[in-house]
Amino acid sequence: VMDLLGEDYRSSLGLPVINIPGCAPQGDNITETIASVLLFLHGLVPLPEFDELGRPKWLFSDTVHRGCTLAGFYEEGTFAKEYGDKECLVEIGCWGPVVQCNINKRGAINHCGGCMNVGAPCIGCTMPGFPDNFAPFYKMPPGTQISSTISKTTGTLVRNLREMTLAYHNKTHKWIEDEHVPTGWGHIDQPGLLDKITHYVYQKLQFKGSHKPGYKYKS
Ligand code: SF4
Ligand code: SF4
Repeated sequence: VMDLLGEDYRSSLGLPVINIPGCAPQGDNITETIASVLLFLHGLVPLPEFDELGRPKWLFSDTVHRGCTLAGFYEEGTFAKEYGDKECLVEIGCWGPVVQCNINKRGAINHCGGCMNVGAPCIGCTMPGFPDNFAPFYKMPPGTQISSTISKTTGTLVRNLREMTLAYHNKTHKWIEDEHVPTGWGHIDQPGLLDKITHYVYQKLQFKGSHKPGYKYKS
């Protein structure tokens, strides 16, 4: 539409072209933008912000990656190998880190669904360069090899440290002191020496300058 109408175009309300991108655009993005403009034109709210391409800024300034439910997997360096895997989809063709879209936060319809929420890699359908700039679909984007290798390197370390912490946070004070978890659902390994040292240091840092809550259990 911008190519057709040109940069000097103004509507009867004095507005340049507003772009609500998507294939198809998310319905709530359309109604929210129209409502915001109408409220402004009636003098009820400030002028909504639009970016240099006329997209509602509050909806399209962030990449879809930043709001992705799978971003935690990316950060910890774990990636899907095939469709249906639960991890980040970047190695099987997701362009989310360089695509401005809010579908994962907003959902597709009635706050449900949205590409990665249902296991689909982003193919960049909200971007002006779509589809050619994102072809061929479902092939790993060129920059991914570098970024995913960095994520795998740092993420492996971070993930292992978190798993140590998580193992302690799944226990009560008593269970830690007893070195036994009274569960009938399975055996829980007790921490080794390295886990205990890590936990000791972690707790020192956690409660530095404050009182440690809880109590020492006495049987
Ligand atoms: S699936 Fe795509 S958008 Fe989601 S974390 Fe992975 S790369 Fe980012
Ligand atoms: S393909 Fe990408 S840009 Fe298009 S709706 Fe899905 S996440 Fe958004």
